[in-house]
Amino acid sequence: MARKPALLGGEKAARRNHFLHDTKIGPEERTLVLEVLDSGLLSDFQARFGPRHYGGPMVRRLEGDFARTMGTRFAVSFNSATSALHAAVAASGSGPGEEVVTSPFTMTASASCVLMANAVPVFADIDPKTFCITPQTVRARLTPRTRAVIAVSIFGHPADLDGLEALCRERGLFLIEDAAQAPLACINGRLAGTVARIGVYSLNAHKAIHCGEGGIAVTDDEALYERLCLVRNHGEMVVDDMGLFDIAGTLGWNYRLPELSAAVAVAQLAKLPELTDRRRELAAYLNECLAGVDCLTRPVERCGCRHVYYLHALTYDAEAAGLGRDVFVRALVAEGFPVNSGYIRPVYLEPLYQRRLCYGNLGCPFTCSLSQGVPDYAPGLCPTAEEMYFRRLLVHKMCMYPNTFEDIDSFVDAIKNILDHANELKLLAADGSI
Ligand SMILES: *Cc1c(COP(=O)(O)O)cnc(C)c1O
Repeated sequence: MARKPALLGGEKAARRNHFLHDTKIGPEERTLVLEVLDSGLLSDFQARFGPRHYGGPMVRRLEGDFARTMGTRFAVSFNSATSALHAAVAASGSGPGEEVVTSPFTMTASASCVLMANAVPVFADIDPKTFCITPQTVRARLTPRTRAVIAVSIFGHPADLDGLEALCRERGLFLIEDAAQAPLACINGRLAGTVARIGVYSLNAHKAIHCGEGGIAVTDDEALYERLCLVRNHGEMVVDDMGLFDIAGTLGWNYRLPELSAAVAVAQLAKLPELTDRRRELAAYLNECLAGVDCLTRPVERCGCRHVYYLHALTYDAEAAGLGRDVFVRALVAEGFPVNSGYIRPVYLEPLYQRRLCYGNLGCPFTCSLSQGVPDYAPGLCPTAEEMYFRRLLVHKMCMYPNTFEDIDSFVDAIKNILDHANELKLLAADGSI
């Protein structure tokens, strides 16, 4: 009670800048980067069938390490998870006139990757506890045009991948996993990203580990592996010498990862288990500290699941708190903590979907003559996703390295202190003085 919240002019509770994202970049990354620089080989891709179609030594080393870590037969590096997702959708054979069911409560690329392949994204609602799509919500969106499903393990908690796998098997659908936020998460003994036929991880600067920009796709299927490599590297120049007859969907982009980035990623991947354990420890501690705070519902970890807490998501009850979510979040940000209300607006509410303008001005691919019926993107389409975004959820990165138990203590103290001042904050916010 003694300390004034920072939003009311008190000292900040944060002991340092928690908005910085650090993944322990250090001497290991430096050594490998210098190795690449000294070799003079900054990329070794060539758009021609042969060994160089598959990239240089550091790219291959990264892919070997990733496949080993995830226990898959193959890994293909990309210059982003977005490009890896696009390649995965292309490799799934989805295209014009077809639909791919995905989550609306995710980073935009989990859906835009579908448009990149000229297919149409269809959105299934999320589970209010894990924030992931479920077999039930996906089933409700299936049509004769559905070709694939993209399961997103959002915030680091695995989607019900077993259920989605069973549904896809039953209906002959291709399952893709967007595990960008969930490396080393697992469900019933299987790692997120390895349940689907293709799984994708991100190495962008916000993620659990990173190399600035980058992505990885993993698969156990050799034909899919080759497809992914073709989309990454100008496939149309490669298929003929490769002797590939079925060339649909092999148009290639330049989605290649540079050797320098691969070097950083190799060193980062070795740190993934340690960084993940740390996040889980801090999250467990935070969950314990928040046990008595009635207005906050802590994240669940479903039975048989391992949550890796890329983000720690809390459901907020404004009525119980006696304070609106926006003021609560503003007060926490004023204390110096990286808290965000709602996460990301449900993807279908973006103008691209609302106005159905993607390629050109004629509504392609949404209203393509091959697709029967215009997909539904009306507000209200996914009520749980909208409820979480507009009213209930807050997410933060306080469980990430290099934060400590003391940082969690200061975060929890700030939360409790703000709630102790709820009335005062509410009145001042109501008359516009804060
Ligand atoms: C970050 C992210 C992506 C895209 O990753 P990039 O490497 O930036 O392209 C896709 N899906 C999810 C869920 C993400 O969090």
